Amino acid sequence: MAPIDLQTNKPHAVCVPFPAQGHLNPMLNLAKLLHHRGFHITYVNTHFNHKRLLKSRGPDALEDLPDFRFESIPDGLPPSDDDSTQDVPSLCDSTRKNCLVPFQQLLCKLNVPVRCIVSDSSMYFTGKAADELGIPIVYLCTASACSLISYLYIPELIDKGLTPLKDENCLTNGYLDTVVDWIPGLIKDTRLKDLPTFIRTTDPNDIIINFCLEGINISFKTQSLVILNTFDQLEHQVLEALSSKFPPNFYSIGPLHLLVKEIQDNALHSIGSNLWKQDFECLEWLNTKEPKSVVYVNFGSITVMSPKQLQEFAWGLANTKKPFVWVIRPDLVKGDSAILSSELLIETKERGIMISWCPQEQVLSHPSIGGFLTHSGWNSTIESLSAGVPMVCWPFFADQQINCRYSCTEWGIGMEIDSNVTRDEVEKLVRELMEGEKGKKMRDKTVEWKREAQRATGTGGSSLLNFDRMIKEIPDGLP
Ligand code: UDP
Repeated sequence: MAPIDLQTNKPHAVCVPFPAQGHLNPMLNLAKLLHHRGFHITYVNTHFNHKRLLKSRGPDALEDLPDFRFESIPDGLPPSDDDSTQDVPSLCDSTRKNCLVPFQQLLCKLNVPVRCIVSDSSMYFTGKAADELGIPIVYLCTASACSLISYLYIPELIDKGLTPLKDENCLTNGYLDTVVDWIPGLIKDTRLKDLPTFIRTTDPNDIIINFCLEGINISFKTQSLVILNTFDQLEHQVLEALSSKFPPNFYSIGPLHLLVKEIQDNALHSIGSNLWKQDFECLEWLNTKEPKSVVYVNFGSITVMSPKQLQEFAWGLANTKKPFVWVIRPDLVKGDSAILSSELLIETKERGIMISWCPQEQVLSHPSIGGFLTHSGWNSTIESLSAGVPMVCWPFFADQQINCRYSCTEWGIGMEIDSNVTRDEVEKLVRELMEGEKGKKMRDKTVEWKREAQRATGTGGSSLLNFDRMIKEIPDGLP
């Protein structure tokens, strides 16, 4: 561990991401931005992810830079050499129960003043440590604002008897179509099925629901500072509702990946957070394709599907006759590994490539990409929008349903595929996306949003101004 140079008098931020891919990327971007603004950074991974990052990027991956160093703490789960995605409910439960003490020990070991803790809003133990030591805390919420406000209204959903569900029948009998028109800031025809999928439980002691309730009490009931990876123009109404209904000061400073691009520092850019090894050859393959001709297919780091769903996506894509890049994570398919028939592989051999992880931002901004078949994770959504790429959405869980709803009905940049996916629907929607009238309208709309995102993150833009404002408003610690 490189020692901190106390002579520099730099403020010191300790950054703590939630240990999942969709949280690591925005937190690393935020840490880089703070570093660029003169902060010394200590970045705290879990031991498990630290090991995986070293494996995916090689031993230099986490080498300390001057004023940017890495630490790790245990996540509380049993040790494992498995490189599969960790189970989210287990991670929520174990970080909540087990991380406080190792984190406190780490803070003591650092032995230098900490100006602030910058914590994922799902890592509640950091709030307890910050309170005890009188260190100011800034939360990063890596979800969209529309999803955050839906989480914050879970207590009302419980009070109104809308969750937990009475029984499993509610999942299929139309109950989830119930309109929820009373959550401020959200579109008036929001339905229960657009809200975080965790409310679909029948268990009053559901781990995730209780985890959310605890988080609301710790991170959002006090006058903390909360950063969102969105921008004012995109989620204006929800951001206003958040500010008027909840005590924290909210700062939308996204898209973070665009803000970071402006930093001229190769050493800083060399730090990455991919848990899987990236395949860069797909970019060369894309170079051989016509502009806007290729479909990009990626369901993120957590989504899993059945072998049948995999077949439907595969045949649907094959039947479009369009070129495609499909990222099939080794653990994408439930139970078995992803096996595609030799008939299908021969059929798509000339047109499609399948890889296990890619540099997504670069793929999305490649001129050959014409559309994105996505699970509507928030990072994927905002990265696609920033690159001007329209989407076909197959939301899987958590906040993806509301991201999909907003993409399709509010922002005009997506079309939804039914969760019971069929090859015919995949073919129809992907064709529409790539060559249809609606696809064209969506592409035009996405290009407008791309410009707005660039404006927000450019000189004088709202996200940049909000970022500077946020830094000024970090309170002083205890005397
Ligand atoms: N990602 C990537 N390469 C891949 C798949 C995903 O770099 O092959 C990145 C993607 O750019 C995004 C993150 O992983 O930043 C996934 O986050 P998202 O919120 O979209 O989905 P999650 O994985 O949390 O479901």
